[in-house]
Amino acid sequence: MNKRANRLAFKAQVEQRHEANPLLKMPGDAALVYRGVLRSLVMACPDGCGELLTINLDARAGKAWRAYGSQEVLSLFPSVWRETGCKSHFILWQSKIYWCDWNDELDTPMEDVMELVRGCLSNELVPYVDIADALQLVPWAVLSACHRLAREGVAQEGKNKQRGQFRRTI
Ligand SMILES: [Zn+2]
Repeated sequence: MNKRANRLAFKAQVEQRHEANPLLKMPGDAALVYRGVLRSLVMACPDGCGELLTINLDARAGKAWRAYGSQEVLSLFPSVWRETGCKSHFILWQSKIYWCDWNDELDTPMEDVMELVRGCLSNELVPYVDIADALQLVPWAVLSACHRLAREGVAQEGKNKQRGQFRRTI
């Protein structure tokens, strides 16, 4: 039953979208389309439904995801949520796939990242993505750090519309 991939399997960088098609066979197989700039990530849907997902990475071409890292260690922000078909919803962080509907927990960031995030919290609620931008970190690392700090009582998350925003408690 479980054919879901838990990692991105990077296959190639190509210039044209259609060159990616024959390379993507298993759930999670992926190729980057690069022509001067990153254009898209093409991916065999990691839930095993057999569809190819094209994730736009070029803001000039409309709604785009942010890509972090490189071919072998890739992160995307925000999460990928298919509105049609299999309705897959997942986070890609450092080429690892975290399934949102399984409530997969993000890995704990390195201690130095925890320190940076801790040092960046203020008395005001701040969206984790803003903290990530200020620190030039992948937002998933900051979100994971903030959740851990909240569990330790060091940080506090906003409620309702302010979910995803964090401040320090002490
Ligand atoms: Zn799918």
